[in-house]
Amino acid sequence: MPPSFSPSRVAVVGGGPAGLMAAETLARGGVQVDLFDAMPSVGRKFLLAGKGGLNITHAEPLDAFQGRYGSRRGVIAPLLDDFGPTALRAWTEALGVRTFVGTSGRVFPEEMKAAPLLRAWLTRLREAGVRFHVRHRWCGWADDGQLRFQTPEGELRYRAEATVLALGGGSWARLGSDGAWVPLLQARGVAVAALEPANCGFIASSPRVAPAPGWSEHFRSRHAGQPLKSVAMGLAGAPGTMRPGEAMISDDGIEGGLVYALSAPIRECIKAEGCATLLIDLAPGRPLERVRREVAHPRGARSLASHLQSRVGIAGLRMALLRECLPDEVMAKPDRLAEAIKALPLRLVAPRPLDEAISSAGGVPFEALDGGLMIRALPGVFCAGEMLDWEAPTGGYLLTACLATGRRAGEGVLGWLAGR
Ligand SMILES: Cc1cc2nc3c(=O)[nH]c(=O)nc-3n(C[C@H](O)[C@H](O)[C@H](O)COP(=O)(O)OP(=O)(O)OC[C@H]3O[C@@H](n4cnc5c(N)ncnc54)[C@H](O)[C@@H]3O)c2cc1C
Repeated sequence: MPPSFSPSRVAVVGGGPAGLMAAETLARGGVQVDLFDAMPSVGRKFLLAGKGGLNITHAEPLDAFQGRYGSRRGVIAPLLDDFGPTALRAWTEALGVRTFVGTSGRVFPEEMKAAPLLRAWLTRLREAGVRFHVRHRWCGWADDGQLRFQTPEGELRYRAEATVLALGGGSWARLGSDGAWVPLLQARGVAVAALEPANCGFIASSPRVAPAPGWSEHFRSRHAGQPLKSVAMGLAGAPGTMRPGEAMISDDGIEGGLVYALSAPIRECIKAEGCATLLIDLAPGRPLERVRREVAHPRGARSLASHLQSRVGIAGLRMALLRECLPDEVMAKPDRLAEAIKALPLRLVAPRPLDEAISSAGGVPFEALDGGLMIRALPGVFCAGEMLDWEAPTGGYLLTACLATGRRAGEGVLGWLAGR
């Protein structure tokens, strides 16, 4: 290296998993990286993700894995070929954090938490020369192309030879990702798709209170916060969406794993038709014919509740849901009641607000980017992570794609700098 060599200065804006991975790739490529984040510390959403058990990736076969990205499979799959679930696990273990595959195929760090991984990662990044600048809120570009940051000491300007934006989506704004970057890129001619909730809960409209949204007060006060375990759910009119799992009754609707998994088609159906109908199978272990027989069995003097409990195992929250969602005349007809037990219709009228969602759909479209994730309209500006327009269910697919896009954006910068 000639003595006059001075490494390129690259800014990474956003210190979530995508930005940190971009920084790591760049530092390894011999570039001076300055990483900026609006918050007092980096990786806050990553730490939150670790609270209920950090599901970093999934161990299912790659073809099934890639299918989780739906219509974006075509653009995400090549990124996963470079840095997919296997590489991610090896990378995690190289940071001294051992991983294991849970019964569902989900992959977790042995300690379940994000903190040890983040700590080891930040140490390695600092050792590699990455400089961290927290409490630096990016607020666009100055006329001369410099990046503008609001800091406690006033505005700072930074001339970067290339920039990676990894600003996250629009949920959990208090952890830093507030989507305030959307108008900044739109003002530069980037056609950003509106951020929308993904992996989110939905507001129901119970027939007991319709057209008002939500549950009846009777149901809400007794059942909000309760888990609905061992059920199956699907979207009416979308064959093949029925799957087993569990959900949770919320104050005004329903949320939890099964609902998150269906959130993209539910959201799109609500957008197109004004509502979506969730079908809940309250007795997934029993075929319809058997449920019909059991419900039609003479019940003598027994109440309907004790009849359903003894014949079909329907009690508690399941029974309350039937009463909440079915008119009395349907409850009185064994055949229709049996059908409802196998496919109870629950009308959903709106997603819960973006800020509550696990992740965001929408963002910078891949069509606006080149293969190195550089915004074509803004040479030298690259994007990574949840701010890109893709979505996936929970199960480790979110972090995997964030890390893969972070790595690709870092490589994109290195290639672009080398080619100048
Ligand atoms: C409760 C919860 C649990 C989750 N659990 C999992 C899980 O188990 N597995 C999984 O795969 N995914 C999970 N996720 C999703 C996962 O955490 C996110 O997809 C991931 O953190 C997104 O990474 P990112 O780097 O793109 O953005 P973020 O992690 O959101 O980071 C963006 C960073 O950019 C900074 N920033 C934003 N705007 C500016 C600005 N103008 N100037 C400077 N800095 C800015 C923010 O402060 C933030 O640090 C979970 C999410 C939530 C909310």
